[in-house]
Amino acid sequence: MASLAARLPDNAPGDFYVDRTCIDCDTCRRIAPEVFDHGDGHSYVRRQPDGEPQRLRALMALVACPTASIGTVRRTNASEAAAAFPETVDENVSFCGFTAESSFGAWSYLVRRPAGNVIVDSPRAAAPLMKRIEQMGGARLMFLTHRDDVAEHATFRRRFGCARVLHADDVTAATRDVERRLEGPDPVRLDDDLLAIPVPGHTRGHSVLLYRDRFLFTGDHLAWSEKRRRLVAFRDACWYSWTEQTRSMERLLDHSFEWVLPGHGGRWHAPSAAAMRQELERCIAWMRDQG
Ligand code: SF4
Repeated sequence: MASLAARLPDNAPGDFYVDRTCIDCDTCRRIAPEVFDHGDGHSYVRRQPDGEPQRLRALMALVACPTASIGTVRRTNASEAAAAFPETVDENVSFCGFTAESSFGAWSYLVRRPAGNVIVDSPRAAAPLMKRIEQMGGARLMFLTHRDDVAEHATFRRRFGCARVLHADDVTAATRDVERRLEGPDPVRLDDDLLAIPVPGHTRGHSVLLYRDRFLFTGDHLAWSEKRRRLVAFRDACWYSWTEQTRSMERLLDHSFEWVLPGHGGRWHAPSAAAMRQELERCIAWMRDQG
């Protein structure tokens, strides 16, 4: 729970505040950009919510914050905000909210499918979220893009019996009992509408998940930068090999998709698969320049 005594001095006066425990994960700024802004190594409340819709967004940020660094001076019931997750992104794809500190606030997603729901990367196993997912049919698969964003995978496995999928090169002691290990560099069909694509680079065993040739869940491989107005990869957070990551990005040109849904960074919906391809080519050219 956020502490008023640790309230950051740059917060705008009023009910909402961010305290000193903020890890600067960006989640609140993406959920409620009209309220939260980027300070020096942390987020802060730039402007108090104006009206009920903005207040609900600010409360959703409070609920989603991985470190409980957002608080309100007045006693507040956040149950409506908690019930807003999973929040629809498009069609049957939703953002889970409830990010985990061990994943540095990485975003995870729920895909509702007649053949069984899929969770992409592990959210925090918060009771309201678990209950909502249960009401939505539970989960058959948990696709883990890479070793950093596995959070509370074991709790989800126990609750829903979902088979966890992770590339063998990213299995660690914490994930050694996952039900399915992907092997090698080639794409693996998990179901008619689900394709796992190994993309080594950020980590050695990073994979992305392509759903219905429309939605690409990209973990920490690829994201949209609102500031640069283009697709980016994280050069400063490339733990394995930038050269490999560039090659992996080139291989994504073999696939068609319109959505990029990352763990960190912005998501992007291209106007068409052709427009996405054009942006991907631009990103690859930039990556080559970074050497
Ligand atoms: S969501 Fe929480 S930890 Fe992340 S930037 Fe906002 S206040 Fe900080």
